[in-house]
Amino acid sequence: MKTATGLALFTVAAALGACGTRNPPQPAAGPEPAAVDDARIAQAAAEPQNWLVHGGNQQAHRYSGLDQITPENISRLKPAWFLEFDTYRGQEATPIVVDGVIYVTTAWSKVYAVDAKSGKALWQYDPKVPGPAAAKNCCDVVSRGAAVYHGKVYVGTYDGRLIALDAADGQPVWTAQTVDPEAMYTISGAPRVGAGLVFIGNGGGEFGGRGYVSAYDADTGKLAWRFYTTPGDPAKPDGAASDEVMASKVQATWFGPHDPARGGGMVWNSIVFDPDFDQVYMATGNGFPWPRHFRSAGKGDNLFISSVVAVDAKTGKYKWHYQESPGESWDHDSVADMILADLTINGEARKVLMHTPKNGFFYNIDRRDGKLISAEPFVPGVTWASRIDPATGRPVVAPNAYYTDKPVRLSPGEGGAHSWQPTAFSPKTRLMYLQANANSSSRYIPRKEFRYVKGMDYLGLYHFVQHGPDEAPPKPDPSAPKPETYLLAWDPVTQKAAWKSPGAGAGVLATAGNLVFQGHSRDVQMGSLSAHRADTGEQVWSFETPNAVITGPVSYAVDGEQYILATSGAGGGAIIASPQVMRQRQMGRLVAFKLDGAAQLPADPAPAGPMVQVTQTFAAADVERGKALWVEFCARCH
Ligand code: CA
Repeated sequence: MKTATGLALFTVAAALGACGTRNPPQPAAGPEPAAVDDARIAQAAAEPQNWLVHGGNQQAHRYSGLDQITPENISRLKPAWFLEFDTYRGQEATPIVVDGVIYVTTAWSKVYAVDAKSGKALWQYDPKVPGPAAAKNCCDVVSRGAAVYHGKVYVGTYDGRLIALDAADGQPVWTAQTVDPEAMYTISGAPRVGAGLVFIGNGGGEFGGRGYVSAYDADTGKLAWRFYTTPGDPAKPDGAASDEVMASKVQATWFGPHDPARGGGMVWNSIVFDPDFDQVYMATGNGFPWPRHFRSAGKGDNLFISSVVAVDAKTGKYKWHYQESPGESWDHDSVADMILADLTINGEARKVLMHTPKNGFFYNIDRRDGKLISAEPFVPGVTWASRIDPATGRPVVAPNAYYTDKPVRLSPGEGGAHSWQPTAFSPKTRLMYLQANANSSSRYIPRKEFRYVKGMDYLGLYHFVQHGPDEAPPKPDPSAPKPETYLLAWDPVTQKAAWKSPGAGAGVLATAGNLVFQGHSRDVQMGSLSAHRADTGEQVWSFETPNAVITGPVSYAVDGEQYILATSGAGGGAIIASPQVMRQRQMGRLVAFKLDGAAQLPADPAPAGPMVQVTQTFAAADVERGKALWVEFCARCH
């Protein structure tokens, strides 16, 4: 262990150089850099000036106890400083802040340590992710952040490595290869920490991936356990912590012959360590291929796709699961943030896990045993299931939902009523805040057969087209409910909306100053960060950054001043799919705001022109076919 911070050593060395003295370097005063452990994280509320872990605290509330910035003075909130990254790709990181130092990742899984007061970079680390790794997933080479623990900074790289860096100088301490580099795996999610371990999942649920979470010793990088979320060959156990539950519960929920190109259940976003029960929750993605009739002979729940799974933190041994979309066939990833709280429901104190997955239901799950406490739709217009049966905890799925022979339009669609964008819970208002997409839908168009081709967008249905090759374009349905997007405040106890504020926003942060901050990335407000009153939803502030703010901001304080901090940078799935709102290229940035900040951000660049200028005209059917070919062969990279 080091006895001085990198910064302090630099200061001593500089002083020696300047004065030419021979005094030996003095140990620096103050804590070791990034001296974060379980005991400290458990007391995160006692140091609101920091943002120690991805969700702000062990319960992942994304709530800051700082209250200097309020609805009354927020008109004075201005940029304090900004740091320009060296990539213009999408930025989705949640920064970590420890004792005046920010640790943040950028696109391509690069890591920066930044002085939280001045915005100056202290060190930088580039894991040199190979460019072709970008083709292994859908939604840009994003990184959702680092973890800081035991004096180290951990990053999961897009090509599947987990790297521990010395928090003092950014030098690598250990590297673990967490995936088969030949397979279609990526890491966009942030590592999580607890019980002396670092937990990391992966993505690839549209490419034949089979989900799993790996736990590594935080100090040595030794693999402690691995837990698969979908089954392998029943004749060849994995030698993993999940082997026992695969044999006792999971295999029996999958039908048809084993096929290495089926699976999914990727843990690509939320993982939470719960010290109340010494267990780790993993939130899993959709099944692959998408339609169950190609994946599992048209039957079975297919554990553990679209589920919350609890395992013992130290051993990875299965404890319980709750499956939100059994037999899922609609790209209903259940990877949204899991938020823990102690709630009194029907007069009874409950240890609750709250979840708002793509499928449109707000779940309260009992953390002791995974039993459903309550579930209600948090948006109107949900059609894939009519309700969740409280007696069985299972959805009542619409009879036509499985599109085995004809297309069906269902809500929510593949975009979800809410996807991964960070959500927040305020212990002050007792409300959950999230971006909600009401009446969103997808038309699921069956293919006659499924074949797996590595790297291709072959999901088992016609994707990104309005109709199949054998049918006429469907006529618009004037009676269809109009899609609506809004920031939603939800009372988890009564399962009712407290307020809604219209807008196409992204991740959120709640603060003790009665504020909810939200980034915007998808509409005319692209590039703004806004703030609403946490109790009423009234919008009280908005600022053009001017670049997409996709993830949730965080808050910290230095020298008695509260800051709001966000990464900005256009990219990710939403922006790639919406070129009409894309600006001319600009670098991603880290932007810090404070009351009476005086930094000037670069001007908003002009909107980008059309990606391709075409003067020829084509028959509508050719355009449609060209689009399908582009989706199949080109869209992965272009
Ligand atoms: Ca998915």
